[in-house]
Amino acid sequence: MKNKFWIFIILALVVSACQREDYFDDLDPETGSFVGDNSGTDTDGSNDQPPHDHDHGGDSDATLTTYRITGDDIDKIKDYNVEDKYKFFQQDYAKHLEMWQFVTRLLPNEIRGRLVEFEVFHGEGELLGYVAPINNNDLSRWKFALAIDAANNLDEINFKDLFTYVVIHEYGHVLTLNEEEVKTNYNNCTTFEIGEGCPTTNSYINQNFQIGWEDIYDEFQQLNEDEIFDFYDKYKDRFSSDYAATNPGEDVAEVFAFFITSESPPQGNSIADQKIKSMYNQPDLVELRNKIRQSPTVRALNAGSWLENPLRKKFKIGNHQHTLKL
Ligand SMILES: [Zn+2]
Repeated sequence: MKNKFWIFIILALVVSACQREDYFDDLDPETGSFVGDNSGTDTDGSNDQPPHDHDHGGDSDATLTTYRITGDDIDKIKDYNVEDKYKFFQQDYAKHLEMWQFVTRLLPNEIRGRLVEFEVFHGEGELLGYVAPINNNDLSRWKFALAIDAANNLDEINFKDLFTYVVIHEYGHVLTLNEEEVKTNYNNCTTFEIGEGCPTTNSYINQNFQIGWEDIYDEFQQLNEDEIFDFYDKYKDRFSSDYAATNPGEDVAEVFAFFITSESPPQGNSIADQKIKSMYNQPDLVELRNKIRQSPTVRALNAGSWLENPLRKKFKIGNHQHTLKL
């Protein structure tokens, strides 16, 4: 039973880590596993604790370096205290810069205004990236964090690559959780509450919720740790990936990532397909897709379909374990 719970802690933290900085407080750098407490048991991606209340100077911290973003440039804010085994990765500033430059080539400057800090961490092959608001009450300014151990093939941009997918997925969180999409001050939430606040009626996350979550959300909220995989199995046709089934926030980020990285709209009409197609029906998102895919730095490269790529298997969760290994 204990082991089972531990496995769930891994899942819950990985699930929510895309939006949580405090994940690192639970990371054991010796094993790369999580030694979480109860704060990691939520499956809805909610940010129960202010992400910036945590001291990142501890020995059990896999955060390496934080940078301030100014346009296309980054300046180091600080290095964190890390164990010796991470020092090589921390001191590889050239790679940190390459990782950031990859982001700048993939995401045009004009859509990066909300990214104010760039963080490099070591994900131990488990965590690929995450985002977090700098201040929980201000969803207009975000930290964008990427795993150095996931950053391969930085010399080209190919939509078949895992790292490209990760950057798009994380950007999808900023796109769907920013201050225009989600209100932190509200009295009555008429959509559904998430950790960041209350999504507006026309928000991307709420539109996605209306297509494939509303009628099963009560059921989802009742799930315990043993049931989330059954939940995905039961509603497979609703989700682009098993990871998408973990909560509405991850789902809309996954739908966005599929929307951007796939060559063309899905041919089928499953609920999962409908979610992606709905993005094609929104001119602002189509424009955003074009800005990314047709930017000078991306256009010259040979983009392909993420769905067809074997790398995608590495992004899967199955058998009660997060099986991602890079
Ligand atoms: Zn995510």
